[in-house]
Amino acid sequence: MDKIILEIRDKAQELLETGQVEVVIGFTAGTLPGKSTPCFITRGEDCELLVWDEGCKNNLANYLVKEKRKAAIIVKGCDSRSLVNLLTENQLSRDRVVILGAPCPLTEGCEGCQIKSPVIYDYLVSGKAGKTGEDDFHDVKTFARLSPQERKEYFYKEVSKCIRCYACRNACPACYCRECFVENNLPQWVGKSTQLADNLIFHLTRALHVAGRCVDCGACQRACPMGVDLRILNRKMLLEVKELYQFEAGLKEEQELPLNTYDPGDPEPFLAGGGEA
Ligand code: SF4
Ligand code: SF4
Ligand code: SF4
Repeated sequence: MDKIILEIRDKAQELLETGQVEVVIGFTAGTLPGKSTPCFITRGEDCELLVWDEGCKNNLANYLVKEKRKAAIIVKGCDSRSLVNLLTENQLSRDRVVILGAPCPLTEGCEGCQIKSPVIYDYLVSGKAGKTGEDDFHDVKTFARLSPQERKEYFYKEVSKCIRCYACRNACPACYCRECFVENNLPQWVGKSTQLADNLIFHLTRALHVAGRCVDCGACQRACPMGVDLRILNRKMLLEVKELYQFEAGLKEEQELPLNTYDPGDPEPFLAGGGEA
């Protein structure tokens, strides 16, 4: 048995049996091979159901926002970065969560991921994370070399597949609004149909809402039943934020999020009272 999962189970059991937490959020085996599923464990003896393998793909930070009990959460690199965001945005109090960090068990499917080990934890399970690749954003840069017409056609084709089930939004730890703009009726910001115009507004608005907060975990894309390529848009925003603000989300606690701050000295002409933006 893998030493990492044994250590995770032992620590989770100890936390539950000593009353330090009421629930452990982790993964258990799914009904299909390679599809481990998020689980909520409340009894020490059930910790043997926890797994840590290639199938542990969801971003578990998503489940903490609504969790009222004192919880332990098992995190890999991207989940931990989302936790940092949630703490920075005051969506989580640090004393309500015990963070069990473990090296990411995924060896494929997250090209470009450079941070596989948790950036924040109370307890770090020993072990080595898989190899990290260099993220040179070649996918975004290659896409940018297409003509405007080709990019538009590709984006329209992808967005046209969307059935507006909102699984992407629901899987995203950065999308925690109690009332999402898509469900707002007064005013209604976007139509509820799956016509191209409505779909475009949904996807472009969501991309802007998560700009500077997205950790490129891929949870949204994995959740999509229609195979919509959401990653190209999210990663375009990641690159913009990186180049414009020298910022990557979720790396340090209490760092200001670039799109959540206002600087009166901002050199943008329109903020200075007119001129061309
Ligand atoms: S937008 Fe997608 S990739 Fe970014 S944090 Fe949300 S789920 Fe993860
Ligand atoms: S799409 Fe925007 S409004 Fe909707 S949940 Fe995400 S961040 Fe909130
Ligand atoms: S999960 Fe896919 S189909 Fe559902 S709203 Fe998101 S992009 Fe559209």
